[in-house]
Amino acid sequence: MRKSSGLLALALLSLAGCHKNGDAGSAKLATSGVTDAMLTNASDNEWLSYGRDSNEQRFSPLTAINDQNVGQLGLEWSADLDTARGQEATPLMHDGMLYVTTAWSKVNAYDAKTGQLKWSYDPKVPREVLVHVCCDAVNRGAALYGDKLYFGSLDGRLIALDAKTGKEVFAKKVVPNDSDYAITGAPRIAKGRVLIGAAGGEYKARGYLAAYDAETGAEVWKFYTVPGDPSKPFEDKAQEAAAKTWSGEWWKYGGGGTVWDSIVYDPKTNLVYFGTGNAEPWNPGPVGRKGDSLYTSSIVAVNADTGAYAWHFQETPQDRWDFDSDAPITVADLKIGGQDKHVVMHAPKNGHVYLIDAKSGQFLSAKAFTTVNWATSIDPKTGAPTFNPDAMYEKTGKPWISLPGALGAHSWQPQSFSPKTGLLYIPANDLAYPYLGAKDWKATDIGFQTGLDAGSVAMPADPKARAGAAAATTGKLIAWDPVTQTARWTVKYEGPWNGGVLSTAGNLVFQGTAGGTFAAFSADKGSKLWSFGTQSGVIAAPMTYAIDGQQYVAIMVGWGGVYDLSAGTLANKSGAVRNISRLMVFKLGAKGVLPAIKPLAQLVLDPPAFKGTAEQAAHGAAVFGRYCAVCHGDAAVAGGLVPDLRHSGAINSPDAIRSVVIDGALQHNGMVSFKTALKPEDVEDVRQYVIKRANEDKKLGMK
Ligand code: CA
Repeated sequence: MRKSSGLLALALLSLAGCHKNGDAGSAKLATSGVTDAMLTNASDNEWLSYGRDSNEQRFSPLTAINDQNVGQLGLEWSADLDTARGQEATPLMHDGMLYVTTAWSKVNAYDAKTGQLKWSYDPKVPREVLVHVCCDAVNRGAALYGDKLYFGSLDGRLIALDAKTGKEVFAKKVVPNDSDYAITGAPRIAKGRVLIGAAGGEYKARGYLAAYDAETGAEVWKFYTVPGDPSKPFEDKAQEAAAKTWSGEWWKYGGGGTVWDSIVYDPKTNLVYFGTGNAEPWNPGPVGRKGDSLYTSSIVAVNADTGAYAWHFQETPQDRWDFDSDAPITVADLKIGGQDKHVVMHAPKNGHVYLIDAKSGQFLSAKAFTTVNWATSIDPKTGAPTFNPDAMYEKTGKPWISLPGALGAHSWQPQSFSPKTGLLYIPANDLAYPYLGAKDWKATDIGFQTGLDAGSVAMPADPKARAGAAAATTGKLIAWDPVTQTARWTVKYEGPWNGGVLSTAGNLVFQGTAGGTFAAFSADKGSKLWSFGTQSGVIAAPMTYAIDGQQYVAIMVGWGGVYDLSAGTLANKSGAVRNISRLMVFKLGAKGVLPAIKPLAQLVLDPPAFKGTAEQAAHGAAVFGRYCAVCHGDAAVAGGLVPDLRHSGAINSPDAIRSVVIDGALQHNGMVSFKTALKPEDVEDVRQYVIKRANEDKKLGMK
């Protein structure tokens, strides 16, 4: 027995590609369950890792469901979830088990064929952490390795469970502190290590990617994306080089560059590619930030064994627009100009598709995939943008409405690449964002630290302005040819913030929408071939697997995330917003129906009369914009997930709102006290502002 398992291990090693490495020590090979070789050469029938294969193409070779028969696709089973927040996860399937992470970082395991719940795990994340989480209580997925399942919790733990039983193996706090960091992204596996970073670029986080031993959770290496305090020794040469691109006392604000989503381990190059977030604070003015601010808004590549810097490409130098480069990275082999190239493809928030040589980091090409007004051109040799001077709002002192905006032309919603069609399928947004530098801005210890005056540029109570903004706010699915850098076909949607994408060898592309449908299109032409009403908006990406020759398609349904929370009057652009959180699994010939739902209750605005002063309302707007709008919505109009303060009883009395905002009466629901930043007078001004806003909207006949 001993001998044969040794031989097996040897065989697996050679399959995985045995990389000799020096001082970092060799990682242990998985002895059972999911191996490196299985992750590298993904089985057609399973979905073992976040992006399915080591190129993260989210392309399935399965063809049982195809463009000829997809019309017969029906609901085989569904499972209601107990967390009514945005569901962003991609399920994993291994050995007949379907694993999902849900909002609030819970994990469920189901029989992938029948839907029977096998186990569930709740890390019991304290709801109070939400105050330093920008974008809802979401989680995007797990990783499988050996006999374990790994995921990160919103409160910053890396948790390993026994994949068969759901029993906790370890749960280790990996974030540097409890006030600036959160984990929402899915971990990845590289040769016995678990790779994960953290979110927090709107707070005081210093971005990093770290590798942890899969058996023990011990940290093996860590790469910082922003240099630390220069009065202390730099961790490595890459930090020293990066420090030259910063000015002011950046380290006091963290610097940003957080690695909150995309991480790809490429066995072909033995590199790990990852995306980094915005520079922090967004507004460079108040902190004297000048220069490129490396390695923010970039793709960085490091050695998988040691974490040593290999290359970087900065997509948005001097970022001042929250242009995170965290969107999913897809690797592919393409023929470009007659040459075979192993490339990294990226379509980040800033609105361009970038092609970069995966091994060397050499820039190959970039092209806008949506309307872009912040840059006037991209240098075809270097990929560097030329800024529109009007977009540098900290210099002009004027408001700037940017396309794309802070929510991105494309954010975390997974894209897919089909080697069969050669097309990259991008879930894209046309979604502007207003920027105005705050006057006399100072950092505080709670809430967003962006340096913006969001109150002054909030949506006005002007029907024309609102209609114009709504008309310009749309979404689309773009089938993009990365070789010619042009769109092959486009499906237009009513609103933005639609789901991630799956493509298959059955000439199909699947995507869910904010408007509550799950649809299939032909991969080559974009013809709509099938759709299913999901009752709730979809933001997650679908996946597919096969058991006993039967192909299934699974998707997490549940509207939410940063767009619902912050977009104000635009939050329901695709239709009435509601969250019904569910896992849905489809197969050919199935006839399942969802339980009927009641129509949404129609609230009527009934605010007290506005008796405050104009000064109070203006100050209240500024405070609301800085501290409240990120969850309760632009201009005090909430999406579907959190209370709309215009309808709240708390605005009827100064004491009621003070007990919540200052005394923390609802902290266990996630609404913590803001007393470290706000005085009772500030809270009263917010109340007056919300009353004024409610009366304005009532007059317009709004709800
Ligand atoms: Ca960000």
